[in-house]
Amino acid sequence: MRKIWRNVYRWGDTEKKLDHTIEHHIGHFKHLLGIEGEAHELPLNANAGDEVKLAKRSRLNRTALRDLMRIVGSENVMVDDFHRATHSFGKYYGDIVRMRLGKISNPPDGVVCPRTEEDIIKVVNYCHLKKIAIVPWGGGTSVTRALEADKGGIALDLTRHFKDVLSLNAEDSTVTVESGILGPDLELYLNERGYTCGHFPQSFEFATVGGWVAARGAGQASTGYGRIEDILVGLRAVTPAGLISCGNYPAASVGGDIRHFILGSEGTLGVISRVTIRVRKYNAANAVMKSFMFKSFEAAVTAMREMMQSQVYPPHFFRISDPEETEIGLGMKGKDKGLAGAFLNTMGYKKGGRSLMYAIFEGDAAQCKTGARTLGKIVRKNGGLSLGSYATRKWLEQRYSSAYMRDPMMDAGIRIDTIETSVHYSRLIELWEAVRKYIKQDGQTLCLTHISHTYETGANLYFIFVSPMLPKDELAQFEKFHKGIVATFVAHGGTLSHHHGVGRLVAHALDRQHSPATLAAWRAVKKTLDPKGIMNPGALIF
Ligand SMILES: Cc1cc2nc3c(=O)[nH]c(=O)nc-3n(C[C@H](O)[C@H](O)[C@H](O)COP(=O)(O)OP(=O)(O)OC[C@H]3O[C@@H](n4cnc5c(N)ncnc54)[C@H](O)[C@@H]3O)c2cc1C
Repeated sequence: MRKIWRNVYRWGDTEKKLDHTIEHHIGHFKHLLGIEGEAHELPLNANAGDEVKLAKRSRLNRTALRDLMRIVGSENVMVDDFHRATHSFGKYYGDIVRMRLGKISNPPDGVVCPRTEEDIIKVVNYCHLKKIAIVPWGGGTSVTRALEADKGGIALDLTRHFKDVLSLNAEDSTVTVESGILGPDLELYLNERGYTCGHFPQSFEFATVGGWVAARGAGQASTGYGRIEDILVGLRAVTPAGLISCGNYPAASVGGDIRHFILGSEGTLGVISRVTIRVRKYNAANAVMKSFMFKSFEAAVTAMREMMQSQVYPPHFFRISDPEETEIGLGMKGKDKGLAGAFLNTMGYKKGGRSLMYAIFEGDAAQCKTGARTLGKIVRKNGGLSLGSYATRKWLEQRYSSAYMRDPMMDAGIRIDTIETSVHYSRLIELWEAVRKYIKQDGQTLCLTHISHTYETGANLYFIFVSPMLPKDELAQFEKFHKGIVATFVAHGGTLSHHHGVGRLVAHALDRQHSPATLAAWRAVKKTLDPKGIMNPGALIF
């Protein structure tokens, strides 16, 4: 791979040509924003083809370098600028802007790739002794600034070697893996043996199982399979205070559950080395896909809530696009005009109100049928119209591809980012309206919202905002704008994050979410497991 800046920040295979559907979608956004053509002269594109050079040199001294090389092998310690740059940031919009500007103020001093759990233990012990900071690295897909080396030190990259499946226990329905395994490698292994992992974040192609746990995420099918905390059975984590091994039983009543401290710890307590998750039978042929149009977002949300509270198995994937997302989606497929558009309008599913629902039932065939029948009844009661399976099939085809749109959109001078929260049903519409009002206050920002993770008590709200970049001060203005959205969440009953995590991005508001006693307990755990504060210093509240 060429050691140029574009290859530091771009999503996916940087040499691969963009899929034509993605290009078409980007064209549609440009049209909506009144931006035509490429804008290569933008300052944010200036360094794309330049060789990566960092202003800060590695501060790992010769002894530390030699010792680390002795532990993991000399080929598994890198201190060159390209490797340090690629391990400086995750994939938050502000990260990409900084990388495009070549502004990397806190690169790690080196990148270390352990081969075994034994290597991880030795590296953690060594760094603890020498007070060298460690940022555990999975796929690097964090969108919360969770991956910055505030105090230098090393990025511990688990994806190069530490990615084996250790065992599949069919009788217990569990699989145990090394934490650096990527989603597709695990899922392929499981599918070939008749199972699925059930966890499909949109970043699935490039995120690791350890990262799923460390960021406490939720996949696109979480309504059926559960969030990662529901799927997680057990884990091992290497902390400066020693090895934690937990969750080796189907259930236990033995005091507090340390898993809930490791889940969402974002590398601040230790390195998750092994993970055991529950697997389910892979019954792809049984899947039943449905899509429905509603006259309003409110009606769609009511139907979703009634389904979730019906005591019938809900869809595994259960989503609603709000009117703006529905319209932009229809426009991209040319379905907003012509016969389809006219039909929907005549039937009262009017532009500006109509909202699309997607549902996929998986698992046992009889359950799928019962679920689909129940949902159909609830939809009709709420004035929804069945559209067959088309929209859901189309969504499924491109479920990971929208991540590829951001780089070319930024090339064209378009800001695009996402932010997400969750809220009880009783305040969902209030929160949705308030956040949209805030995001759209400049009169030109597009705001596409969907619900993609649902519960009996509430749901998430996922906002995608798209606007032309500002000619001046883009990063500072964007960060101010972002803080305003978070404040709006807090003011209207939303959590700081439903599945992206905290990192350094929303840590400033954690005291609005947790009581002082909770934060004190959390700090005490940190002090016990990482007394010298070497694990991801600066993330969360540490
Ligand atoms: C386009 C896009 C779409 C996304 N969609 C989703 C989604 O649908 N659902 C979702 O939940 N998230 C989503 N995310 C966020 C992100 O992908 C998840 O948080 C993911 O789980 C991170 O995994 P990773 O392996 O990339 O971890 P990284 O980004 O490398 O690390 C994330 C955090 O976990 C820590 N960490 C990583 N591995 C370990 C380990 N083994 N031990 C200890 N700490 C560790 C890191 O130090 C860091 O603090 C998305 C991100 C992008 C860019």
